Amino acid sequence: MYEELRNELKKRKYRITAQREMILKIFLESRGKHLGVEEVYRELLNRNVRISKATVYRAVELLVELGFLRKLNFGEGLYRYELVDRTSRESHQHVICQKCGKIMEIQSDQVEKIVSEISEKTGYIINWHDLKFYGICPECQRAEKEGSR
Ligand SMILES: [Zn+2]
Ligand SMILES: [Zn+2]
Repeated sequence: MYEELRNELKKRKYRITAQREMILKIFLESRGKHLGVEEVYRELLNRNVRISKATVYRAVELLVELGFLRKLNFGEGLYRYELVDRTSRESHQHVICQKCGKIMEIQSDQVEKIVSEISEKTGYIINWHDLKFYGICPECQRAEKEGSR
């Protein structure tokens, strides 16, 4: 993954900074999580990396541009980012708890069916889709029940 990043950056004449590598490392280590710039920034501080939030933002955006990260918007007023699995083309959907903000990943074959249906109806080649489900997670449901007792 780092090798890939180095090559990709070199191709585009970007400098390979330790900071950019460290940011990618943080995402590699927190697979399945959806980090905001703030969280990445705090994680860098924990690792004694001196960096400004603006630099983190630019580095993360660059990694999106290079296809290493995917930019996500869950309607919280901030963007979150996740690692793009470049070895597999399988997609996953997100289920978001409206109470605690927890984000779960699920896979459903039905989604692929929807994609081919849309493609058939419109004649488009679908490259990308973004399907989100909002609700209340089991823990929050439980907490709600206990609270109303
Ligand atoms: Zn919840
Ligand atoms: Zn995800």
